[in-house]
Amino acid sequence: MKRWFRTLVISIFALAALSLVVIQFVQTRRTFSISDNMFNVSVNNAMDEVVRQMSGEVFQTASHPATSFNYQELDSLIAEELLLNGIDLHPVVGIYDGSQGSFLYSSDASKENRLEESPYRYNFSPIGVVSSGQYFITLAFPDTELFLQSNTKVYLYMTLFLLVVIATMFFISLRTLAAQRRLDQMKTEFINNMTHEIKTPISTIGLACEMLRDETVSQDAATRSNFLGIISDENQRMRVLVETILQSAKMANKNFAINPKEVDINSLTAKVLQSFRLTIANRGGSIEAHLDASPSTLEADELHITNMVYNLIDNAIKYSVDAPRIVVTTLCDNENIVLSVKDHGIGIAKENQKRVFEKFYRVSTGNVHNVKGFGIGLNYVAQVVRLHHGHISLESELGQGSTFTVKLPLLG
Ligand code: ADP
Repeated sequence: MKRWFRTLVISIFALAALSLVVIQFVQTRRTFSISDNMFNVSVNNAMDEVVRQMSGEVFQTASHPATSFNYQELDSLIAEELLLNGIDLHPVVGIYDGSQGSFLYSSDASKENRLEESPYRYNFSPIGVVSSGQYFITLAFPDTELFLQSNTKVYLYMTLFLLVVIATMFFISLRTLAAQRRLDQMKTEFINNMTHEIKTPISTIGLACEMLRDETVSQDAATRSNFLGIISDENQRMRVLVETILQSAKMANKNFAINPKEVDINSLTAKVLQSFRLTIANRGGSIEAHLDASPSTLEADELHITNMVYNLIDNAIKYSVDAPRIVVTTLCDNENIVLSVKDHGIGIAKENQKRVFEKFYRVSTGNVHNVKGFGIGLNYVAQVVRLHHGHISLESELGQGSTFTVKLPLLG
């Protein structure tokens, strides 16, 4: 997807989502006000009936509302009438005496101030009371209850739910788009790096072959052996590179299985070290080997273990700015063969140490180094270790160097 098109899609989507939020907001407010009006109409209907009954049949024996009213009956009559009008609430009820300016009765004395402010005030004239317009029934609904009562609660929840769904979908879409962009970038980087990594050994091998064709060079045994060594090392380098990429893709398959046989870790490591001899020498570095594992054989996949050791040593050399100084050790603890590769290179910051085993992850090092790579090597190493039921750990300090330690169980 083109960049401008992606920006357009995101903008339209954001605008549509925002419009929807505004529309929903306006609509919700309108629904609230309609619902408020309906609530008032229902209360008024209910209270018309209450007033009618109080003024007529039910309280006809009353001579004075303050003394003769059965207030409990009044409360339940109001609740009953409210319910009949669809309001399942028990408001605070008061009888207000207009001539005295005070309440003769209130169902909850502590809420009298609310009764005073309440708009729900209904005049009634019980039989036997001379002056009409003197007594009022007053109702006070607690705000929260009023709110809960309204049918808009469901509407509000639905609206909120939909808004959350839209926001989540928007967020997921943005993340997917960002991930896709990252993947695109990674793909481009991968192809660039791959081209570079493969081109270098090809041209080195080409150059060495040219030299060997020259009779004056090929007749000298030492020089010839040196060039053959270069060809062999570069060939090995390309083999591991291609193998790492191919096997790493294969390992993503759940059914992937290793092909174990008896492997001597000491001689395998020595062989891998041999292939780095020239590279190390060319960079004026040194490799120290302490291959002391005993017993040194374990059931493992030779190809993958070789590639694993190769990747670890290759990284140790790649990420050493000056002449590489590398120490490779094998030993046995109780149940494992322990292989460690220690370098004095650029090291890895604490926050990046966990991530280096992720596929395609590369520490962004700014100008510190310009080492080419794919970010697959350590992921592949970790997969090989996992398939052998082993464990890999990393100790590193920025600027000081790194030690990768692999433990492989002796009993497969
Ligand atoms: P790459 O192809 O980039 O070397 P890896 O998966 O082998 O991929 O390594 C992932 C990242 O971990 C590297 O890009 C590098 O930043 C860091 N890294 C790996 N090994 C070392 C090391 N020995 N010293 C410092 N950094 C390392």
